[in-house]
Amino acid sequence: MEEKLTEISTLGEFGLIDHVTKGIELKNDSTIRGIGDDCAQLHYPDTEILVTTDLLLENVHFDLTYVPLKHLGYKAVVVNLSDIYAMNGTPRQITVSLGISKRFAVEHIEQLYDGIRLACDVYGVDLVGGDTTSSRQGLVISITAIGDAPKNEVVSRYGAHANDLVCVSGDLGAAYMGLQLLEREKVASAGNKDFTPDFSGKEYIIERQLKPEARKDIIQSLRNAGIVPTSMIDISDGLSSELLHICHKSHVGCRIYEDRIPIDYQTAVMAEELNMNLVTAALNGGEDYELLFTVPLHQHEQVEAIPGIKIIGHITDESLGYAMITRDGQEIPLRAQGFNHMQ
Ligand code: ADP
Ligand code: MG
Repeated sequence: MEEKLTEISTLGEFGLIDHVTKGIELKNDSTIRGIGDDCAQLHYPDTEILVTTDLLLENVHFDLTYVPLKHLGYKAVVVNLSDIYAMNGTPRQITVSLGISKRFAVEHIEQLYDGIRLACDVYGVDLVGGDTTSSRQGLVISITAIGDAPKNEVVSRYGAHANDLVCVSGDLGAAYMGLQLLEREKVASAGNKDFTPDFSGKEYIIERQLKPEARKDIIQSLRNAGIVPTSMIDISDGLSSELLHICHKSHVGCRIYEDRIPIDYQTAVMAEELNMNLVTAALNGGEDYELLFTVPLHQHEQVEAIPGIKIIGHITDESLGYAMITRDGQEIPLRAQGFNHMQ
């Protein structure tokens, strides 16, 4: 913890917001007015507007014993932007609402906003407003993201057809394995001030948990290749659960192949070390923030040529259900066992 901390009451709510948002320059033409009035003012002529929001509660969705506040700010923005990309949109603005308990000082909120502002810069998004209140217990963060997409390019969960290819970006299960590692080290370090966790050789899975990225690059690659997916979703609750969402909304079935599921080496090593089933982690571990989408079969070659995208199976008639074909040719039904904080 820092040496010298400034109590929030010395700045007050207005002073705090001024302090952490000073110098913000608006980047998007659709942002007419940002922070500082009763409302932000946006201008979106002739386009579809996409809006998404997320609520994050301390000790339900994040644990500050191993999550640095800057990373938390970054991730809180990224998970919302991921939802806009998952509709094939471009994020343009965010609002940030905070509930802050007495435990937090000005410096802590500064760190949080360092991460929030970094994400805004990386993804070209404007921070245009929010709300700030005190909370009785812990930190509460709610972020809303606003974006746009041409009407005929919005991609929903509803458009998958039989014979479409099922595609996924990046690799899966790493963020979940990173979380397992962080939790293990938290337990090991309890009550031991001098404990330094050793994450060498495990940097990738830690980064996937603490500093995920939204796949803006994949959306761009698909656009460049002239591919508009028939359906798309971002993977926040695990591949299995998200693929079932697409299937249920689109009234189709699916077959995916175990040997095609992209998994990083570090994820596999960690699963082995923790004696956990690797494929289960890749299917059901959450927080990958990769894109899962379907494309028509005739675009097979175009999609296969894009780096970072893997074809993992195909869509079937609804009557055939939802299954994964294992390496030894068995069919196992897909289940939604994703991370659901409500369970
Ligand atoms: P109001 O009383 O109208 O809700 P506030 O005093 O809460 O206004 O907010 C003043 C300005 O500061 C508004 O533009 C609001 O969007 C912005 N704001 C408030 N809290 C935050 C925050 N946590 N992050 C970014 N902007 C904020
Ligand atoms: Mg307010």
